[in-house]
Amino acid sequence: VPSLTGDPTAEVLRRLHDDLRGLEGGEKSTSIPSLANADETLFGLALCSPDGYVSSAGDSEVEFGIQSISKAFTYALALSDRGRDTVHEHVGAEPSGEAFSAISLEAETGRPDNPLINAGAIVTCALVKGAGARERSARIHALMEACAGRELSFDETIYEEEQEASDRNRALAHFMRSAGSLTDDVDDTIEVYLRQCSVLVTTVDLATMAATLACGGVNPVTGDRVMSGEIARHVMTMMATCGMYDYSGEWMLRVGTPAKSGVSGGLITASPGQFGLGVVSPRLDHRGNSVRAVAACEQLAERFDLHALALPAGSLPVVREHEETWLEVAAGVVTVQGDLVFASMQGVLRAIEEVLDEGETILVLDLDRVTRIHTVAQQILQSVIDHLLERDRRVVIVDGAGRNAVTATAHVVSLAEAREWCDEQS
Ligand code: GLN
Repeated sequence: VPSLTGDPTAEVLRRLHDDLRGLEGGEKSTSIPSLANADETLFGLALCSPDGYVSSAGDSEVEFGIQSISKAFTYALALSDRGRDTVHEHVGAEPSGEAFSAISLEAETGRPDNPLINAGAIVTCALVKGAGARERSARIHALMEACAGRELSFDETIYEEEQEASDRNRALAHFMRSAGSLTDDVDDTIEVYLRQCSVLVTTVDLATMAATLACGGVNPVTGDRVMSGEIARHVMTMMATCGMYDYSGEWMLRVGTPAKSGVSGGLITASPGQFGLGVVSPRLDHRGNSVRAVAACEQLAERFDLHALALPAGSLPVVREHEETWLEVAAGVVTVQGDLVFASMQGVLRAIEEVLDEGETILVLDLDRVTRIHTVAQQILQSVIDHLLERDRRVVIVDGAGRNAVTATAHVVSLAEAREWCDEQS
């Protein structure tokens, strides 16, 4: 449907698709026939924003096996079932610097390095609660559906082929059993692991799943809370440090948003508070990451300054103006705007100090233009207000939206009303 404003995001994705569809290099995985026979021209991109709007380009609605991207969601479920500390008694939280299928266990503990390589993901499967492999698989499947916001099919063929080709994963499981980090049955655990790899998704699903992480565990399309904010953060932390296997460090340097790739050529990346992106293209580099998906993310990050550690907008100065002499009644006015976060509060405090400097008894604090008050900022603001009230100052909060973010002497909806309030005091 054409709209007045167009879809600038889809336009960017379409251009990226055009630019990169000719990019050669890499090889499809040959680990199972379904992957070896995959259509290597498949190339799709989708982006889901925090308001649940999905923009896409190319083969964004074609289904493929999710493979290793599932590991991020199984980790989320294990965390919610067992808690962070118990999960990490069995699996580490360090990048392995090795290939996804490496046999790398910590010498003293026998733990695999992290939950996003095969060994770690297999242990994570055993930490998901449920009576038997089927129930655990069903719960992982259901979590992935909740993140995608729709029912996802299971591909029996992929699963059977994965079982046929599971020698190395079984070897890893046996090895971990002998080291003590895996206590469950090998067959059951491998079944759960291979089932999660065999769920079909599109890039629109992947974008929505990534956006659910980026939105602190709330699926922006359905509005459902799927996991806690803390778990979403743990998952993104692990993706940031370990999601791209032995390319994870360079990925953070070049792209800078938490990501997870899979052997089918899929990739998710989550920009906290901003968007989730899903990309697929089957040809892989020697580390097992999709050549075109990596290139697409690198170009996007470079053009739009997407690095998660870039200066966040909320850390810019937020004091719009402040004045000491306003009325006959000695009042000072401080107007703030934008996001009130920890980093911006010092400026606000200085401005309050300045306007009350000459013995003004009333502080008019205009929060009308404030978009968001972070918990830390809200607490700082409240303690400052309490401090002022104790020193016989009065504090009038202006907020047209009536958010009642802090407790003060009075709440008004406009500066004009604040002026009237102050006049009444004289
Ligand atoms: N099923 C694949 C395996 O276990 C998943 C690996 C991947 O996607 N990197 O080898």
